[in-house]
Amino acid sequence: MKKTIPEIARSIADGIATVCTAGELKDRVRRDDIPTVEEIDVVTCGTCGVMSGTCAVLTIPVAEPGVFKRADAITINGVPAFPGPCPNEGLGIVDCIVYGTARASPRYGGGHLFRDIAGGSELQIEAESKGKRYEATISGHEIPYARLCTTRSAFCNYSAFVNQKDKEQVTIFSVIPFPGNADGATVSGCGEINPLANDPDMRFIHTGTPVLVNGAPGLVLGCGTRSSRARPNLALSADFFGMDPEYMGGFITSAGPECLVSVGAAIPVTDEDALANLLILDEDIPLPVVDLIDRSQVDMTRYSRVWQGTSLTVFEEHDACILCTPCLAEQSCPTGAIVSGHPIDPTHCVSCGTCTRVCPGKVYTMNMGSIPVLGRETPIILRQSDRRRGERISADLKNRILCGTFQIQI
Ligand code: SF4
Ligand code: SF4
Repeated sequence: MKKTIPEIARSIADGIATVCTAGELKDRVRRDDIPTVEEIDVVTCGTCGVMSGTCAVLTIPVAEPGVFKRADAITINGVPAFPGPCPNEGLGIVDCIVYGTARASPRYGGGHLFRDIAGGSELQIEAESKGKRYEATISGHEIPYARLCTTRSAFCNYSAFVNQKDKEQVTIFSVIPFPGNADGATVSGCGEINPLANDPDMRFIHTGTPVLVNGAPGLVLGCGTRSSRARPNLALSADFFGMDPEYMGGFITSAGPECLVSVGAAIPVTDEDALANLLILDEDIPLPVVDLIDRSQVDMTRYSRVWQGTSLTVFEEHDACILCTPCLAEQSCPTGAIVSGHPIDPTHCVSCGTCTRVCPGKVYTMNMGSIPVLGRETPIILRQSDRRRGERISADLKNRILCGTFQIQI
């Protein structure tokens, strides 16, 4: 049987379409309850994780028209931005580009700023023009133009990293300095629910495809940088208006702030080939293990080692706290989800697992699994992707399709 995308869109509009999340479909596959093309119309996929190639294009109101000619420099909450490309001569506004990896301090960067903009927080603006400083305070929601652009997101088949040197390394691939001698592995990627894992030929996810970016409607611009047939990724764009701060934010690595992004995409089940691709499981998806320094491949495993039989959330046992000063878990949490003595803030926690490594009282525990590296079981010490949020954005997208607020094709 074959269905066209307009036919599927009509079924959705008529309220007779069957839409499921990738997670729901994989559960059926594991029960050997494989649906037919007739039975299922759309599968929604999602991913959430550190996506360094993210930036924002902003128009920042700074002063009344005529107060300065053009800005030479600008910071927002201390995060440096690049003024331009439009000079906005004499308008008192500054167009600028902010990198998600730009930093105001070791604990605050572009990713944090993007979450603050989406949440409507107060922002401190400092601009410079011809040696004079201009300051303004605005709320994130007062920015007249704010658009997020990603240059490399939703990477399919990302890598696990190990540090084979005998010394620990400071790197964006580790929150605490990365232990040497391959004593731990860090991983990224949401495996079987990743959009491109389910559409490996990019039949349905390509330039112009509607997607959810941090919960806001967005579009695929095309392939991202370093995208290849074997390991594709996407460039995306979306307005900040409508973004849910819980899907985004900053993530502090041992080498400084990085940027979290969540992406949801819908795959229409048009024919047997589309369905066959959607049946992929974590067990089928390769996860190359590479050396942190030279990126040479040292082993190969599967995403099932990361996401099957492991935990998606952290368990807390506060009675075990030995009241160390300072609280190492609070100091190390890359998202600011821990304030000592309080439950983890679930709106910030991405289940990365760092607190389970650093807390001497074992207040925080989570089964993160292990991967084989050169014949040795190596514990996973950090997840830079959050499967739970990937599932949440998939479910969010499913609901929007069913209630008619998200069109699967333009
Ligand atoms: S690191 Fe763990 S044991 Fe120490 S204060 Fe923090 S929660 Fe308590
Ligand atoms: S798992 Fe622990 S360290 Fe990681 S984000 Fe959640 S609370 Fe913070």
